[in-house]
Amino acid sequence: ALTAGIVGLPNVGKSTLFNAITQAGAEAANYPFATIDPNVGIVEVPDNRLDKLTELVKPKKTIPTTFEFTDIAGIVKGASKGEGLGNQFLANIRQVDAIVQVVRCFADENVTHVSGKIDPVDDMETINLELILADLETVTKRIQRVEKMARQKDKEAVAEYDVLTKVKEGLEAEQPVRVLEFSEEQWKIVKGLHLLTSKPALYAANVSEEEVQDPDGNEHVQKVKEYAAAEHAEVITVCAKIEEEISELDQEEKELFLEDLGIAEAGLDQLIKASYSLLGLGTFFTAGEPEVRAWTFRKGMTAPQAAGVIHSDFERGFIRAETVSYEDLIEAGSMATAREHGNVRLEGKDYIVQDGDVIHFRFNV
Ligand code: GDP
Repeated sequence: ALTAGIVGLPNVGKSTLFNAITQAGAEAANYPFATIDPNVGIVEVPDNRLDKLTELVKPKKTIPTTFEFTDIAGIVKGASKGEGLGNQFLANIRQVDAIVQVVRCFADENVTHVSGKIDPVDDMETINLELILADLETVTKRIQRVEKMARQKDKEAVAEYDVLTKVKEGLEAEQPVRVLEFSEEQWKIVKGLHLLTSKPALYAANVSEEEVQDPDGNEHVQKVKEYAAAEHAEVITVCAKIEEEISELDQEEKELFLEDLGIAEAGLDQLIKASYSLLGLGTFFTAGEPEVRAWTFRKGMTAPQAAGVIHSDFERGFIRAETVSYEDLIEAGSMATAREHGNVRLEGKDYIVQDGDVIHFRFNV
């Protein structure tokens, strides 16, 4: 499964947020095959559509889909030079698919800040610079390897050399690779380099308990947003401390608590959704009487590939995907009516699955 790594300087609230994630955690009974790794927190992906489908189908059981966050400890200034747990830190980032950077925007005299003051933009620059320097090292080494082949006019080497040069120029101008522009062909080469700053990223601005209602009133949050906008990255505001408290509550208590605080949606829920879409993930549903269930697919997947998310047998024996969009099904009020309206399509193996599709797979065993 794809995973988003949580990074940030010390004392910004990473552990607090990760604690909230593991406590809110997905019900293990529903996901018996999930990997047990203390650095991985598995959460259920909040989705109103699943509640609506449950009302409509009245199944015995409803199962949300899940998302994994990975806790990545230990970045400090100088990590790219191997300081602190530098090398381990970078190796851990290399293994995740997206980066969630927690940025401290809360003031609290009792919690020291590594550089002595609250300055989120400075913190973001510090971390991003370490990642850029690490990538620069990777790219420089790679250039040395392909340079000679490129000079001999080896076609592939020339193409890679061009990409590497462009990446290097960008990094030297302190730009993360994800903001650079490449052709589709070139992106394939970039992906193959597994650079840290080519991974999609978003920022989680950690605000205080007092500010969670109106995070935009916090000047630090504004600065984080300006910085993020320059690299087209999203910013989610959370109060890690409150999320930790919420994670101990059941659904009903949680809703009351949020209402009391005057918050429409928990920060963690927003973070889960944002991370999910950052990775290009979508949700399709299966809706039978025994079970209504949400499944994660990568956008662009064909119907047989999506069937494979459920079981490899479904992919191998794929015949057709009986498909209705969530909206059409809800509007019709029942599967039978949706069918009468002609909203249930029989899709074949080339069908590209859409977010919100409710699918019944037909397959040979
Ligand atoms: P980490 O080093 O980034 O993992 O940071 P921690 O999660 O350990 O948090 C460092 C300290 O900041 C702890 O004492 C937390 O209780 C506190 N802290 C974290 N988030 C918040 C928050 O939203 N508000 C306040 N007031 N304190 C927080």
